[in-house]
Parts: sequence; structure tokens; C-alpha cells
Amino acid sequence: MKNIQMVDLFSQYEKIQPEVDKAVLEVMRSSAFINGPEVKNFQLALEKYLDVNHVIPCANGTDALQVAMMALGLKPGDEVITATFTFVATAEVIALLGLTPVLVDVDPDTFLIDPVQVAKAITPKTKAIVPVHLFGQCANMDEIMAIAKENNLYVIEDNAQAIGADYLHKDGKKAKAGTIGHVGTTSFFPSKNLGCYGDGGAIFTNDDALAAKIRKVVNHGMDRRYYHDEIGVNSRLDSIQAAILNRKLPLLDSYNAARQSAADYYDKAFANHPKLITPIRAKHSTHVFHQYTLKLVDVNREALISFLNEKGIPAMIYYPVALHMQEAYQDERYKEGHFPVTEGLVSQVISLPMHTELAENQLDFIKESLLTFVNQ
Ligand SMILES: *Cc1c(COP(=O)(O)O)cnc(C)c1O
Repeated sequence: MKNIQMVDLFSQYEKIQPEVDKAVLEVMRSSAFINGPEVKNFQLALEKYLDVNHVIPCANGTDALQVAMMALGLKPGDEVITATFTFVATAEVIALLGLTPVLVDVDPDTFLIDPVQVAKAITPKTKAIVPVHLFGQCANMDEIMAIAKENNLYVIEDNAQAIGADYLHKDGKKAKAGTIGHVGTTSFFPSKNLGCYGDGGAIFTNDDALAAKIRKVVNHGMDRRYYHDEIGVNSRLDSIQAAILNRKLPLLDSYNAARQSAADYYDKAFANHPKLITPIRAKHSTHVFHQYTLKLVDVNREALISFLNEKGIPAMIYYPVALHMQEAYQDERYKEGHFPVTEGLVSQVISLPMHTELAENQLDFIKESLLTFVNQ
């Protein structure tokens, strides 16, 4: 049996090595390191895949969120609502821009931002909502878009974890995750569902004027070279990363299918176990399993993790501390006990190895080991 990893990037690379190596060498030979043809080709290919009018590549998923908020013209003092159960980047950029992060609790079954809590958190200062498509499935966008419309708010989808997932609208129509709000963002960090071999990110929108603004912001606020209409940033996807992504994008659906089949295996292995709650799949979204996250009931989580680690099985806690309990995000508005669902989840969740290369014998071993511990 191969070593079990949380994410096995090397085995995935081995399968596409000849094409990727060739593509990377070609970029080096062309010297088109910045904004070369690979970047444009990737933009066009991702627009087609997502069925969205505009993709603007950028340097990483955190920049993507920051640029989206800058392009929407959000100003210091504006309130932006997001979930307290997420990766820090979502709230970090809000705070960094001098906007006020307004945190809300999540749904206990899906871990996704709770639209009821979003509606309750709206004040006259609220300008935007950032739903996070956590662990690989979409937040309830029908409800979030309805709340946004009623209150005249922007919606920025943080789609770093659910690229390729399908959102299933109430009327039966489908849309790719990240293309429903006013703007969507993603990350191509190596371990994401569509990862490059370094940093990368992108912003999506169907709004032509907003896309033009985003293109300006990522490029030092300029449209015409050396004429700076506004303060921007420098955030680019480099050509080598784009070349890699061009080889991997055609495989994204098969990568997501491989994650789904590993998740199906785990679901079956742990179904109806009194101490294990398998991930609940939302009705309004497919699940592309960026993470496979169990909820533990009456299990000593630290002891379980040590037990698994001793057998060579990694396991992680995403996320051990809610944003409102983080040192950097202390705020008198939020005390311990404020977000009971998230505060329960942070002590209950455990994420198992999840990637595109999990073999049957590895899954068998993970299953047997985990069941041995919880049944003892
Ligand atoms: C990974 C991630 C980001 C940030 O992406 P980077 O490319 O690492 O900057 C933002 N939001 C969420 C939910 C993420 O998982």
C-alpha cells in the first residue's frame, strides 16, 4: 500500500507528467512569463467551463476576494457578512480593507452559512454578503440572492473549495458554483480541487462593467499603460501556473468524480454508526468534496487522531478555532457562546484523507483503523 496522505499531489502529477513538463518547458523557452498566451487560453477555457462571461486570473484566492471587494467599491465602515466557520482569508480581506466583518453562524448539517442568520445580521451599513462554499458544496444561493436583492447587497461567492460543483436552482436550472452572485472567487492553491504548482487564483463575473473594473484593479488600477485611474494592486497568475492549469482543467470533472467516489466509500463505511455523522449533502448542490468531514459523537478526537497517525493515517481539523474566537479577530460584539453551531463543530469535526488518488486498499485501511478506534 502506498503511503496515505491528506492530499497526494505527486501521484496525481505522475499521471500527467509528460504534458505538464512539456508545457512548463515551453513557457520557459518562450520567455512569456507574464500574461503570456497560456494565461489568456486558461481564462477562455475557464470561462467556457464555468459558462460565465468573464474570468480574471489573479495571484491567489485571497487576492481574488480582496480585488472583488475593491472593484465593488466597498468603503471603510461598510459591513460585510460572512460565516464564522471558514478559512481566515474570507474575513481577513474584509478587515484589511477597513470594512467591518459581520460574522454569522452556519447550518449544523451542511456547515454552510445559514441564510436565516444572514438576514438577521443586516443593518443599514451592510453592503455585501460573502457565502463560502465550504468543503465542496454550495451555500444556499437561492435564499442568499433573494436576501441580497431585497436589501440591495452585493454577493461575493468564495468558491475556493467548490470549483466544478453544480448549484441546482429551485426552478430546476443549474449553474456552476461561483457564477451565481455578482462576483465569484477561487484559489488554485495546490491542494484545492483545481490546483496549480504554486499560487494562483481567479475572479468570475457575468457583469461586463464589473469585469472591466476588476481587470483594472489587478493591474495597478490602469487601463491604458502608465495611466492609473485608481489605486489597484499587482495580482497576476503567472504563465507557468496557467500552463499547468490548462493541462489540469480538462481533468477537473474526473478529479471531482474521484473525490466523490472516495466520499461514497467513506459514507458507506461509516453509515449509521452511532459515533460518526457522515457529511450531509445539501439538496441544492452537488458536492465536490474538497474535504471529507465527519462529526464525532462521544469520541476523544485527539486520541483518535494520534491513533490514526500512529498507523500512518493523517487526519486534520478544519477548522479548530472559529473566526470570532481567533486572537486577531477579537471583537466586543462576539463572545464565546455567540455562535453555538460553529462552537460545537470546531470541537466535533475531523477531516479524513481526501484527494483524487485514494486507492481501495488505502480506503479499506482507513475504514478499518477508524472503526477499530471508535468501536473499542
Ligand atoms: C484556500 C482558501 C482561500 C484562499 O486561497 P489562497 O489561494 O490560499 O489565497 C480563501 N477562502 C477559502 C474558503 C479557502 O479555502
